[in-house]
Amino acid sequence: MIYLDYQATTPVAPEVAKAMHPWIEEKFANPHSPSKWGREAEAAVEVARREVERTLGLEGGSIAFTGSATEAINWALKGMIEKASPKRNRIITVATEHAAVLDTCEWLAGRGVDLTILPVGPDGMLDIADLERELDERVAIVAMMLVNNEIGVIQPVTETARLAHECGALMLCDAVQAFGRLSLSEGPDLVAISAHKIHGPKGIGALWMRDGAEPAPFIHGGGQERGIRSGTLSPALCVGFGAAARLGRERENRDYDHVERLWAAAMKALGAGWTINGTTGCRYKGNLNIRRDGVDAARLLADLRGIAFSLGSACASGSGRPSHVLRALGLDYREARSSIRLGFGRYTKVQELTDACHQIVAAVKAQEHLVA
Ligand code: PLP
Repeated sequence: MIYLDYQATTPVAPEVAKAMHPWIEEKFANPHSPSKWGREAEAAVEVARREVERTLGLEGGSIAFTGSATEAINWALKGMIEKASPKRNRIITVATEHAAVLDTCEWLAGRGVDLTILPVGPDGMLDIADLERELDERVAIVAMMLVNNEIGVIQPVTETARLAHECGALMLCDAVQAFGRLSLSEGPDLVAISAHKIHGPKGIGALWMRDGAEPAPFIHGGGQERGIRSGTLSPALCVGFGAAARLGRERENRDYDHVERLWAAAMKALGAGWTINGTTGCRYKGNLNIRRDGVDAARLLADLRGIAFSLGSACASGSGRPSHVLRALGLDYREARSSIRLGFGRYTKVQELTDACHQIVAAVKAQEHLVA
């Protein structure tokens, strides 16, 4: 199997698995209990917390661990709206956001929040003038991702945060696809991240909060995370997240250069006839979302069972609906149906990516013969 679905999830790094191992096999203590073992577990959680915060590299705030980035995003949006003054009852977001943001915003809209969803251009980028036009003193929060999970484009997060702050609003950044791969943009007040996108374990994420910008609690109970997020932390997952964050930081340049090489190899092996979805100017190159006239991407997926790739986002792939991101770019139904996403990174070998691209090209040619 050639794994080319790095936006859906990433392979667990061997160093991460090794770091987690004792916390699964032997060290079972509750990190919130006062025993010697509990304190040892707590210390391991705190070391991991500092690793994640160091890799985030943002000043003036700290993280709370969550069960996923989806939880972090739900918490940030719902908890901030709960805390906002009744006059600030508006959210602005972007049409190409992940479902974790869009569906939470729609849920809030169903409960009386005024929701504005900004369009993007055919290149997938937000026009900052559209945001400026919409911002006013009724806006509580602007939610925008850094790197798009479907098309890889990088949105102007720092400028968005600056404009949001000018009118007294906060900014939430979904940095799930950027964290541990690229340096994060300064500016946001809340940042959601996830371990399994950076070679860490599934089932753990985090919300970074600027000091003073903590949302109201979303999960109630023992108040283990500073009284604002409840639930017993898993030392194994925290340690795994910390190890993955540390590796991401230490290998940032090496991984980045490798991804550049992979992108170039894929473009060469795919050859002419493809159109890249999303701008090529401002993107993370471990995400290659492409389309080609006449291709039936769903059939391609079925024909190439030895390659793990995607039709768009992992969520959209299962549903049979064309991706909302590709539609937001203005692609028609046919174009969206002829799009595939190849996601690669740290453990992808140039040769296997090249082989996969050759197989894709051969399968496309076979489809063309069938039609002709
Ligand atoms: N945001 C983006 C951009 C993502 O790609 C994902 C994962 O697919 C999420 C949020 C949700 O992350 P998690 O799987 O940790 O809930």
